[in-house]
Amino acid sequence: MLQKYNPKNDDIYVHVAGRLVHRDNAKVSVFDSSVQGGDAVWEGLRVYKQGIFCLDRHLDRLFASAKALMFDNVPDRPSIKKAIAETLAKNNMDENCHIRLTLTRGEKITSGMDPRLNNKGCTLIVLAEWKAPVYDNSKGIKVISCAIRRNAPQFLDSKIHHNNLLNNILAKIQANVAGKDAALMLDEAGFVSELNGTNLFMVKNNTLYTPHAEACLPGITRGLIIEIANELKIPVKEKNLSLTEFYNADEVFATGTMGELTPVVEIDGRKIENRSGKRMLENIYKTFIKIIPVYCEKL
Ligand code: PMP
Repeated sequence: MLQKYNPKNDDIYVHVAGRLVHRDNAKVSVFDSSVQGGDAVWEGLRVYKQGIFCLDRHLDRLFASAKALMFDNVPDRPSIKKAIAETLAKNNMDENCHIRLTLTRGEKITSGMDPRLNNKGCTLIVLAEWKAPVYDNSKGIKVISCAIRRNAPQFLDSKIHHNNLLNNILAKIQANVAGKDAALMLDEAGFVSELNGTNLFMVKNNTLYTPHAEACLPGITRGLIIEIANELKIPVKEKNLSLTEFYNADEVFATGTMGELTPVVEIDGRKIENRSGKRMLENIYKTFIKIIPVYCEKL
């Protein structure tokens, strides 16, 4: 398993519904919409010593997701930033941390799925933990394609970053059973979409490719990598990509807040030959590291 128990998190304080409480007392009601129907939206944020990475971009996505789900009484940007700042200060956290920011539709007056049963406004949870990037980027990860498809917009739009994670959890179970690090999810048509928790890129003949953001989550890191590639004058193409194209790529890497940029060294038992000697990944990663301070916000 990639993530490990960290005793440094034993006594952290968590911001829940306006109060900072010890993790043992950090609870939501059994009437909360997240318990009743996974009816919540979330963001994963990384804390570097220069501040929180791409905070406004993550909050933009949180607000867009909450609007799509028609949440009422959504806390505004300054109050969410205040709750994050209070949480980090209380825990003396200033780097090497991960924040799981969750906004639920809130507590219901009785159990049920109808959003009209919510009349108390949203519940905000700021869970900050000591956590290094999850993947060992020097080793890379091995992945396996799985049977379950990534949701398409006609079923559940992947542009809503919601807590109904069963689609991805079922995929992850398949990867676990196969002894691999992550599951590669295809879209409805059988093209590569993303991994169960990160986006995918491949390199072929000095061009960078990534799947269209139709079924995959339009990741904040993914967006930034495309911007970096444009700046470095690396040709970038968003297109439908098959497993065969990925098996035969010169380089493959995953992107996300969870692991930054991670080489993928094997897909379905096929070694990624790394013909270009990870040149593109290393080139992009160097720029990524350089721009981290520019995109960090100190609260
Ligand atoms: N894909 C999925 C399914 C994810 O859950 C995430 C992270 N939440 C990502 C990709 C990466 O997105 P980001 O770069 O915004 O962290």
